[in-house]
Amino acid sequence: MSNDSAAVFAKRMDRVRAQLSATGTDAVLLSVGPDLPWLIGYQAMPLERLTMLVVPVDGPPTLVIPAFEVPRVVPHPDLFTIGGWGETEDPVANVVAALGRSARAASAATVRLAVGDHTWARFVVDLQSAMPKAQWVRSAEVVGPLRAVKDAAEIASLQRAADGVDRVAHALRTGEIPLIGRTEADVSAELSRRIVAEGHAKVNFAIVASGANAASPHHHASDKVIRAGEVVLCDFGGTTAEPHGEPGYCSDITRCVYTGEPPAEFQEAFDHLAAAQAKAVEAAVVGVTGAFVDSVARDRLAEADLDQWFLHRLGHGIGVEEHEEPYLVQGNDLPLVEGNAFSIEPGFYISGKWGARIEDIVVATAEGPLALNRVGHDLAIVEA
Ligand code: ZN
Ligand code: ZN
Ligand code: ZN
Repeated sequence: MSNDSAAVFAKRMDRVRAQLSATGTDAVLLSVGPDLPWLIGYQAMPLERLTMLVVPVDGPPTLVIPAFEVPRVVPHPDLFTIGGWGETEDPVANVVAALGRSARAASAATVRLAVGDHTWARFVVDLQSAMPKAQWVRSAEVVGPLRAVKDAAEIASLQRAADGVDRVAHALRTGEIPLIGRTEADVSAELSRRIVAEGHAKVNFAIVASGANAASPHHHASDKVIRAGEVVLCDFGGTTAEPHGEPGYCSDITRCVYTGEPPAEFQEAFDHLAAAQAKAVEAAVVGVTGAFVDSVARDRLAEADLDQWFLHRLGHGIGVEEHEEPYLVQGNDLPLVEGNAFSIEPGFYISGKWGARIEDIVVATAEGPLALNRVGHDLAIVEA
């Protein structure tokens, strides 16, 4: 673990403590899921044995962990104590003990505990029976707003991730990745290999949707053969490989190509989509709400009567998780702040016919929106 990352984790721990105090929360309890690696660089194994970092608002943090997993933890004695539990111990009792003063308060109805959103129900249920009077909230309330504000190192990682998938998208757009005559699944496998070759530790998804399949926003990749004269929508991303086992950051991009000359009707609709996407990127400045940016894309699509086919929210936050706060969606009236990173991905989906989507990752900065994906957005025509 580098000194740099130790400083990053120490700063995050301070921010979590401050947020606990600001939200009147006594402790946050983190198990499997992305909050824990974001905070201390350790990813809990999804085991039937409990791993849980206990961060009390006013006491020392403890990582309650199966004893035989301890060698996998990079120790940070300045940040947290490692409490390995043996096979016959009750880890829930260890969590309660690690709460310290908050645990004594657990007999009162005033204690408020934030538990990681991905924590297995079996452990939450056991914890609730151990502390029946505690008030339980989601860790998203405490950690979510912090994770949504990226520091310079995180933005650099997101940029590296975006550069990697931009190179894959470039290969797609220039015809370096042949399409006609191959199955969607075969092309998806090639995209996946390239995502890893471009600096990702793993692939999170590689959607390839051709022809009418592009009308399904979450179509994955089938054994359908791609033919000449079709739209091919590709939406792919992965998680970067980071040094020292630190958590990776996600990429997520969508580009469309056409196998041959597109019909005028499709080209025209696609140009409106590209205009709506670009307009929404420009609109994503600090201080406007997620709902507002969503409206900008929706209103521009309405000019071409395409808004009725835009079936999902405009975008999602991105970081150590593919989808996280903030969401660019009607109803989100929270203003964007400096350091928010999110997708802008309008689309249109006409059932049985065709569909299209364009997606970039964008960071809200003091100087305005910074689009991390820079590969061409237009409808590339490929001949093979
Ligand atoms: Zn999705
Ligand atoms: Zn995507
Ligand atoms: Zn996305």
